[in-house]
Amino acid sequence: MIRIIAVVLAVLLAGCSPIPPTASSSVPSASPSSATAVTFDGARAKAHVDWLADPARGGRYSGSAGFRDAANYVADRFREIGLEPLGDNGSFFQHFTMPNLELTAMPVLERLGTAPKEYRARVDFTESVNGRSGSGVAEGAIAVVGGGARASGQDDFAGADVGGKIALVTGPGQQGSSSVENAYQAGAVGVLVVGNTEVRYSYIPRLQQTTIPTLVVTENVANDLLAPSGKTVADVQAAVRARRVDAGAPASGFDVATTVRLSVALTPVHDVDAMNVVGLLRAPADDGAKRAVLVGGHLDGVGTDPNGSVFDAANDNASGPAITIEAARALAAIRSSLAHSIVFVAFAGEEEGLFGSEAYAAQMASAPGRVESLIAMIDLDVIGCCGDTLIVSNESPDLQKRVRDTATSLGIPSQSVGGGGSDETSFVRRRVPAVFIGWSDYILHTYRDVPSVVEARRLQKAGEVVTAVARALATAD
Ligand SMILES: [Zn+2]
Repeated sequence: MIRIIAVVLAVLLAGCSPIPPTASSSVPSASPSSATAVTFDGARAKAHVDWLADPARGGRYSGSAGFRDAANYVADRFREIGLEPLGDNGSFFQHFTMPNLELTAMPVLERLGTAPKEYRARVDFTESVNGRSGSGVAEGAIAVVGGGARASGQDDFAGADVGGKIALVTGPGQQGSSSVENAYQAGAVGVLVVGNTEVRYSYIPRLQQTTIPTLVVTENVANDLLAPSGKTVADVQAAVRARRVDAGAPASGFDVATTVRLSVALTPVHDVDAMNVVGLLRAPADDGAKRAVLVGGHLDGVGTDPNGSVFDAANDNASGPAITIEAARALAAIRSSLAHSIVFVAFAGEEEGLFGSEAYAAQMASAPGRVESLIAMIDLDVIGCCGDTLIVSNESPDLQKRVRDTATSLGIPSQSVGGGGSDETSFVRRRVPAVFIGWSDYILHTYRDVPSVVEARRLQKAGEVVTAVARALATAD
């Protein structure tokens, strides 16, 4: 789920914990779903998660051998269910080229000087790769720049001498102000930002020509580095807030006599051959309007660290394709009743910026299947763990209501959330009614997102909702 980017930006901007879903209670349904006896098999879906998120798949990074193995597995299931291949040249694979890059060594953060200390990647700190943040080695003293804001009437850099140094961004940030870019413009050679360090954030393969290493660090690490100043992260944040209220308050920036070294090593951005897996359940009367419902989710993950640790990506997002496969199996059993076809897709390239769903929308030419033929798109992401409330995105209110009413009729609580975090976005942009569906709590982008966190009962519940919604849409006039 690329939403993780949005979450870290929100953390950096607001200095608070990840965005909770917008709370709104379940709407009771007056009409229980007409879908009665579709049989979704949650245990079978769990077996798919176990296979797809096995460490042997290497975390399914787009363009990798592990991703190709996973794509072959999904294609084999589609074939065994009896779906028609809707990819290139009569295959299930829709190839496309996308940019990507790999980490070539574990990132490094160490304190130098009389009390040297090495910090631990994915525990004490993690790298950020996006825009100005990329490869680089930097060494220098710390310059504290609060939220890193530099807008009219607000200069968090005041009081700090940033040139040639490592900027430490404590937050709170300010909307529309990029702390890393501001630090770079002020002459910083590296940036440390206080935030969530357990995750490997999605790499967005659109980098500036010149990049500087940027690490997200825990508040504890930041306090450690700040120690010679006698101040803490909380002190700095309070000073920033005071100055935002009163421009006459003391400058919140300052220099610290701590020298650090940081390193982020990445390959250059290069093109990789990626592929979506696409299968069609054709309605018997399909030669009529040739319309279709699309059910899918991304198959890719963030791969393997250079130290060999695999991001299995079970919840994010083996769970989505696993439910997609079993929804296909359940719906294939009632194919004779369908008025519209159903397309099932496992996307690549989601983590780096929705490349697979964009490629689908741009390349799929046949009907049913192409964007103009789609009645609705249902995107399944982080749907195997951990909450008990389904979250349903709000870009397409009618479809959202249909999904939530169906959930209610099956006894499953649901919540509305803002959209924009996953593959549904590529369809919303093209005016196809589309929703993202997941569970309200999630594990993602950490070594802990392993198959055992995904439970068959959650796949079962979500799968029943998805199957019922797709059935209702595909059997309606
Ligand atoms: Zn995801």
